Amino acid sequence: MKMSNMLVSTLREVPAEAEIDSHKLMLRAGMMRKMASGIYNYMPLGLKVLKNIENIVRDEMDNSGAQEFLASAMIPAELWQESGRWDAYGAEMFRLKDRNERDFCLGPTHEEVFTDIARNEIKSYKQLPINLYQIQTKYRDERRPRFGIMRSREFIMKDAYSFDKDEAGLDVSYNKMNKAYVNIFNRCGLDAKCVEADSGAIGGSNSAEFMVRSEVGEDDVVFCTSCDYAANIEKAASTPDIGEDEALKELKKIETPNTRTIEELVKFFNTTEKKFAKTLIYNADGRIVAVMVRGDREVNETKVANALGGVTNLDMADSDAVLKATGAQIGFAGPIGINVEVLLVDIEVAKMYNFIVGANETGYHIENVNYGRDFEGTVGDFRNITEGERCPHCGSPITISRGTEVGHIFKLGTKYSNSMNAKFIDENGEQKPFIMGCYGIGITRTMASIIEQHHDDNGIVWPLSVAPYHVSVVIVNIKDEAQVKVANDLYETLRKKGIDVILDDRNERAGVKFKDADLMGIPMRITVGKKITENQVEFKLRNSQDIDVINIDDVYNTVKKQFDEAGLNV
Ligand code: ATP
Ligand code: MG
Repeated sequence: MKMSNMLVSTLREVPAEAEIDSHKLMLRAGMMRKMASGIYNYMPLGLKVLKNIENIVRDEMDNSGAQEFLASAMIPAELWQESGRWDAYGAEMFRLKDRNERDFCLGPTHEEVFTDIARNEIKSYKQLPINLYQIQTKYRDERRPRFGIMRSREFIMKDAYSFDKDEAGLDVSYNKMNKAYVNIFNRCGLDAKCVEADSGAIGGSNSAEFMVRSEVGEDDVVFCTSCDYAANIEKAASTPDIGEDEALKELKKIETPNTRTIEELVKFFNTTEKKFAKTLIYNADGRIVAVMVRGDREVNETKVANALGGVTNLDMADSDAVLKATGAQIGFAGPIGINVEVLLVDIEVAKMYNFIVGANETGYHIENVNYGRDFEGTVGDFRNITEGERCPHCGSPITISRGTEVGHIFKLGTKYSNSMNAKFIDENGEQKPFIMGCYGIGITRTMASIIEQHHDDNGIVWPLSVAPYHVSVVIVNIKDEAQVKVANDLYETLRKKGIDVILDDRNERAGVKFKDADLMGIPMRITVGKKITENQVEFKLRNSQDIDVINIDDVYNTVKKQFDEAGLNV
């Protein structure tokens, strides 16, 4: 592409709307533009990168034996009603009506659609296994769209759905996807780690997420410092910290005026957070439930939702509900005499002695409370694991870092095939539900994540495998006909060899052209200037400061070497 014909939209200033590097750089390099909150237009340069990522994904999916498909983004409500998710999906779903008042949605994901395809098209075990995938635009009305295309309301996803005749078959399909994902992220130059993930209340089978470490990530990822255990904090099992045995003391009600928070209580009682058990009251899809954890712990809402059998909306209860459950204002809830549908007690609390809780009376707490003697509930693991705690696999200390999920592989089992009555005929002539898996990659989020991992002060530093152009040929002085001729010849030669080249033939200073090429992250730069009189040009890599003066006849081989070193064909 000649830059004189190209829509170049680079910006020197950092746009105010962007908080994180990838978002800033995508705007500055002219990769995309915002149209509405969480909705973006992809400019030619950004689209080229997306296509490159898509092609890597396509290649690996095809190699794994999956088949490409393309479903409609607009889905009739009936399919979602069959699976029970039309109501359960909640406000994240974009809904619309046609002229006859029929309900549709813009697909946030496609389990229902692919289950429907399978039940119509696959009749016999002889046709299995089947894995269908698509690369398609998804719609989710996110509560907090942010960070550009990291969390947007319209985004491109690769989603795949596997259909097997039994669990053993699903294991094979799942492992193939796991391998394909490792290859995909490697080829994209993205350091993504496969971590154990929550698979929800139903299913109970495996699920793993591919996470990239990132300070701006919205997930907490637990890593063992010794073995290779890694898990989303939603999933990571905590180990209770059990103190020494104590004799049970008598209950004592204490007046604690204006002390509601743990900090205020610690001061008031002159003790540590570990001496308290806090009781948090939630509204779980309209059910009022309470969860108890030690004073210094955080409730794990995923574990709570799973214990309740799956919850769509888990929110803190409002003050009216708290008053109804406890008879007191917020800050004085406790387990004794509380009026809730379910009381979940973290196992650590059940093992504590003589602790302090709210008295369910405004202005009072109770001392010397003990589980079993004074109250009972459903005991389990309901809290987040914390930094330094023991690894659930090997017992070594764990660390926690922020991460962003770029991919997710999930064993669905019969969740959708049962609810949607999707069956095949097995070897014995019996009707059996498909055993399913689903597998997603955020294509647009992957693009942003690559930039997060590959940039410097001057702009993006694309890995060669996904770069919008491989080489930028810069003409230093477009008024010098000889330079123009050499540059055009190089441009044509490289293009004929299958290399994606831009020729910067704009009437701009060389410095401006260098800055743009750096900002756009073009991996190689060839500068055609005065040295052509000695048959020489300059060669520079985006990720290095060195400038090599090379012979014009060596340009192709020099470029080709970069492809060879990256393990890429050209
Ligand atoms: P998150 O926890 O980040 O909301 P999710 O669990 O909702 O993700 P999935 O439903 O598993 O995500 O979707 C598959 C992939 O689609 C994710 O791994 C992610 O890469 C991508 N994705 C999901 N939501 C968004 C979004 N709002 N914007 C961009 N990409 C997204
Ligand atoms: Mg989500």
